[in-house]
Amino acid sequence: MTKMTKVAFIGLGVMGYPMAGHLQKTGFEVCVYNRTTTKAQQWQQEFGGSYAATPAEAAQDCDIIFCCVGNDDDVRQVVLGDKGIFAGMSENTILVDHTTASAELARELYTIAKQQHKHFLDAPVSGGQAGAENGALTVMLGGEQEIFDKVKPVMAAFAKFSQLMGKAGSGQLAKMVNQICIAGIVQGLAEAFNFAEKAGLDSEALVQTISKGAAGSWQMENRYKTMFAGVYDFGFAVDWMRKDLGIAFSEAEKNGSLLPMTKMVDGFYQEIQKNGGNRWDTSSLISRFKK
Ligand code: NAP
Repeated sequence: MTKMTKVAFIGLGVMGYPMAGHLQKTGFEVCVYNRTTTKAQQWQQEFGGSYAATPAEAAQDCDIIFCCVGNDDDVRQVVLGDKGIFAGMSENTILVDHTTASAELARELYTIAKQQHKHFLDAPVSGGQAGAENGALTVMLGGEQEIFDKVKPVMAAFAKFSQLMGKAGSGQLAKMVNQICIAGIVQGLAEAFNFAEKAGLDSEALVQTISKGAAGSWQMENRYKTMFAGVYDFGFAVDWMRKDLGIAFSEAEKNGSLLPMTKMVDGFYQEIQKNGGNRWDTSSLISRFKK
């Protein structure tokens, strides 16, 4: 695929909007679709390119179609049906789904794509809003090597790292592992920072020290300031996290793995939702200690 590769981007949310922007800025000819058309118009004004009235129309004549919507049901709505992506895609073109969704859906869409002589990659991302805006996302993919090799240089417009994890669904499985890690890490930080406050330690000196040792993490470095300050109205929403953990719990039932700590943290997130924190960042776990 060359810089003249024609691509579509479906779903201009917090993540999709800047991701599609990076593609256009890199030199690809991008056609976008968004359910709320005003956002597509705003995107076109900011970056150029074009926008379409339906996912099928956006996908027409494109080599690669990227998609980043909310959950399994949303993916079904934009991919299937007469106005969906598959209806507009030509044979031998590729659909890359960046939505965090189930592995089951990924396998289903891979099979449908095959039957229609098209290609599908599940490709959830990590790195958050900042990663999307800075073109520095990490992408974990499931599907075929040959198709991944074609898409990788195009994704480089918004990704600093991408890895094929295995067959269809493997990208989503890797993302589940990612979210299980985050649940535990953030709860650990919430307890540790609450302890630090009660112990009267200087938060800045503390984090500047321990982040350089074995306890250091992305969450610690990027979230300590707001966690100590009690600021949560940004970032990766609790609603999204609970959606992702729900997907991991269903998969764990199938593969027989136990997730006791993750279940406990999910209960804490449920409490935060009840207190109105649906759109708060996942680091809001510390709010439970700040009552
Ligand atoms: P968002 O800001 O809520 O945007 C969702 C996008 O999907 C919007 O463009 C929305 O259109 C569209 N959409 C939702 N349901 C639709 C439907 N049924 N039909 C058509 N369009 C639909 O979400 P986001 O934060 O960008 O997240 C997108 C995906 O990335 C999610 O799966 C999320 O879990 C994952 N993710 C997010 C982050 C993060 O930090 N935000 C990080 C990693 C992964 P409208 O504009 O019309 O509502």
